[in-house]
Amino acid sequence: MTDNGLNSITLDMPVQFLKGVGPARAQSFEKLEVKTASDLLEHYPRDWFFAPPPVKIEQLKPNHTVTLAGFVESTDWQAWRRPPYFEAYVNDDTGLCRIIWFNGRYLQDKITPGVKIVVWGKVALYKHQLQLSNPKFMIVEDDELIPDNFSGPVYPATANLSTGQIKKIVHESLDGLTELMPEFYDAAFLKKSNLIERKKAFHWIHKPLDQQQIDKAKRRLKYDELFLMQTALAIRRYKVRHFEKAQPLTRTDQIDSRIRKRFPFLLTEDQDKVIDEISVDLAKDIPMNRLLQGDVGSGKTVVALYAALVAVANKKQVAIMAPTEILAAQHFTNIERYLKNSSVNRCLITGGLNGEKRKEVLEPIKTGQTNIIVGTVALLQQDIQFADLALVIIDEQHKFGVHQRASLRKDTTPHCLVMTATPIPRTLAMTVFGDLDISIIRHSPPGRGEVQTRYIHPKDLPKAYEFIRERLKAKKQAFFVYPRIVDSENGDVKAAIAEYKNLSKNIFPEFSIGLLHGQMSGSDKQKIMDEFRKGKIHCLVSTVLIEVGIDIPNATIMVIEEADMFGLAQLHQLRGRIARSTSKSYCLLVAQTENETANSRLEIMERSNDGFEIAEHDLKLRGPGELLSSRQHGLPDMKIANIIDDMDLLKMARKDAFELVEKDPMLTSANHKNIRAELIRKFAGSLTLVDVA
Ligand code: ADP
Ligand code: MG
Repeated sequence: MTDNGLNSITLDMPVQFLKGVGPARAQSFEKLEVKTASDLLEHYPRDWFFAPPPVKIEQLKPNHTVTLAGFVESTDWQAWRRPPYFEAYVNDDTGLCRIIWFNGRYLQDKITPGVKIVVWGKVALYKHQLQLSNPKFMIVEDDELIPDNFSGPVYPATANLSTGQIKKIVHESLDGLTELMPEFYDAAFLKKSNLIERKKAFHWIHKPLDQQQIDKAKRRLKYDELFLMQTALAIRRYKVRHFEKAQPLTRTDQIDSRIRKRFPFLLTEDQDKVIDEISVDLAKDIPMNRLLQGDVGSGKTVVALYAALVAVANKKQVAIMAPTEILAAQHFTNIERYLKNSSVNRCLITGGLNGEKRKEVLEPIKTGQTNIIVGTVALLQQDIQFADLALVIIDEQHKFGVHQRASLRKDTTPHCLVMTATPIPRTLAMTVFGDLDISIIRHSPPGRGEVQTRYIHPKDLPKAYEFIRERLKAKKQAFFVYPRIVDSENGDVKAAIAEYKNLSKNIFPEFSIGLLHGQMSGSDKQKIMDEFRKGKIHCLVSTVLIEVGIDIPNATIMVIEEADMFGLAQLHQLRGRIARSTSKSYCLLVAQTENETANSRLEIMERSNDGFEIAEHDLKLRGPGELLSSRQHGLPDMKIANIIDDMDLLKMARKDAFELVEKDPMLTSANHKNIRAELIRKFAGSLTLVDVA
């Protein structure tokens, strides 16, 4: 290293060799996932201060915006105030100042007596006392000097590496590093898209002079992040479409009418539309990669069976896979119903299928005699050899994720259709599933009873029980759903086993109550379900287990207790279980919560029966959370962009990325070499982009 470190500095050098870092700090940086110099530049501030230089408490004057630094002397959470506030007294060597944060309950474990704090805000006179309300604040190390000019970035920090230290390290190398930042786009594009240069963006995000610079820097960096992600997806899609071959499966009018005759009803408009989309895909020698979305009961399975029968008509094999054995069995039963007296050979593979029996089933799959093979998602990992597998159908029910494509890649890749009952908001679909095609069934088949949903307080349960009793007397059946099998330790959450006892002993002694949960054996579960199906059990108490597709039209009541503990999508799924009959159904969501978000979520459930609408609401209320985690899409998590707030940028980046890949699929043109290098740096590990290199 030279003295100023600037001459030899590179973007991919370990952060340890930057000025002000050493082996110890490098380790702390590692905790922040900062390994190289460019990681450091992408360690974006989480906030920025533009504060005036600190003043002493004795110099405070009303209505001035000031910065104060001192030690917290005492704190108090005043929960009973309207609005409630968190109060701290800060002491510098000249006086004591009262500072309050309205609704600042979350500050209780951050701002504690003894910590050194810097606050910045407007001074107000309140009851003859000068105080600050809702100032910005920053906690600093005891021995950290408060610089004259306190403005600047605030970084995500660790116990051993404070935001001030990070700021110093970044600022030390910033000029040298940003100089090295390669540009992705030409000047004309930047101008047209209202984006600043990349090196400027990195400079401004870490060392802005004003809010405007921050905004411009953010816009550019967010755009880049979204653009790179979309480009990776576009390439992934391109590669599937151009380097993998599928067997074209054609549908003739004759095949079409033969398949339709199998269904004892007319397909809905939505089903027809989706079937057309799928048939177009199947006819190509490009592997289909399609997601079929639709509420529980909207008729997805029928569509999937249609696709399967197209493949069978083309003399190919189809695998249909479900997440659990129960569901696989249910699919099989369904299929049997439609395929009665047909010459299509089908089999169900279960875990219990062993020895000779198993061989007997596997042999005709190997020879190609068996056309449709139903099982769990483990189907593809087992010792099963297919003669000519051309289509894989995966029913994910309420879960979804990006799938490893069928790993039996020989010379051809099977077409793939994934079904999910989880409505994925369009916003998310565009990112996570950027390389999938999507078909949606919006309207369920006619003749369905409507589900009326009510959100009630536990104190109204007795009334609800009487209402339910009347329905049970009228030979209807009910589900009772709980978040847990057994009580939590302090017993404040109702649980299935205890409530099963309560309901059967105290509430509905005259009816037969059954219990179903995940810790029961497969055969016990099957037995309970059969009895419920046959109407021998009137009320089924369970955990979310019933979420996974049970078809019992006579069950028209569902009580979900501790409803605020479930996700909205999950509640909607659960409720879908009672939308299966022609008579009206009732869903009672029971919860007691003061949490505003929880309340508005449950109110949405009362208001809307549209899964997509509910999902969009949930996304707005709770953020993408799990849905957008890297586990879902296999790409690194985003560092600065947020697909909800940055929707417009996302749309723009998506369009630009797909256009780019259309023109220069492997980004081999000299103009695109920086984009390509960055993609490899970012995604090589997590995407099959390696062969772009
Ligand atoms: P999903 O897989 O989306 O949950 P299914 O395909 O299992 O939905 O269909 C749910 C129920 O609706 C089944 O009982 C099925 O027979 C029935 N069904 C499907 N399509 C139609 C239709 N077009 N008209 C009437 N009933 C239908
Ligand atoms: Mg289904």
